[in-house]
Amino acid sequence: MRIEVKTPEQLKLMRRAGLVVAEGLSAMADAATPGTTTKEIDDVGREVLARNGATSSFLNYGAEYGVGFSGVACISVNEELVHGVPGARVLADGDVVSIDFGAIVEGWHGDAARTFIIGDASDEDSTLVEATRGALWAGIEKVRAGARVGHVSRAIDEFVRAQPRRYGTLREYTGHGIGSQMHMAPDVPNFHKHGPSPKLGVGMAIAIEPMLTLGLHQTSVCEDDWTVVSRDGSRGAHWEHTVAITEHGVWVLTAPDGGQAELAARGVTFGPLAD
Ligand code: MG
Repeated sequence: MRIEVKTPEQLKLMRRAGLVVAEGLSAMADAATPGTTTKEIDDVGREVLARNGATSSFLNYGAEYGVGFSGVACISVNEELVHGVPGARVLADGDVVSIDFGAIVEGWHGDAARTFIIGDASDEDSTLVEATRGALWAGIEKVRAGARVGHVSRAIDEFVRAQPRRYGTLREYTGHGIGSQMHMAPDVPNFHKHGPSPKLGVGMAIAIEPMLTLGLHQTSVCEDDWTVVSRDGSRGAHWEHTVAITEHGVWVLTAPDGGQAELAARGVTFGPLAD
């Protein structure tokens, strides 16, 4: 399938969407305290979208196929891995909370996720969150013009396998191309697959999003038709960024600094576009 190639002007709109996503994730994480419901956190995301004149990538998503998503953020707690529907669930000390958030600015999408722990974290949960974040950046490190999607997938897989502990990597859910729609070609799996994969080039953007569990990788979907849980009840983490390739290098559109610091630490050329 053809991968959408963006003009510099379109990538700049995606950067604006990415900054709204970053602001929303930060505000929602700040609001996530013990006693808060996931619906209240979703409301914070709605305020950030409204304040910036942006709309939601997630709200009503999938309505044409069944139950449209009812929130602007996916908020997944503990054994909920991804696609958690905001609602009455009350956050408690020690909960592992993943928030995935998307924004549209002038028709262009940004999509990112992060996981954090409420209050006191167990060592095991902290390690899970850090390993998943590390896997995301191991994947981002491989993005460049001429690289293949398979290089990104393999880097994530190898990073996870190199950890001192075993993790489950979700297989049914992957990263994706992004731009004029949230989910576009190509799929970006979080595990290594033999065989050819699409080549990346200037003007392309992909959302990279490793999803790990402390147990096995098998999942189930809840009766709400959305919330994905681990079958063995193990906790999960999910980190995601929208990453673009410009004529100058790599631009992490959903990172507040565009990825500058992390890319420099990894020897990757930072390639923002000037306004
Ligand atoms: Mg995504």
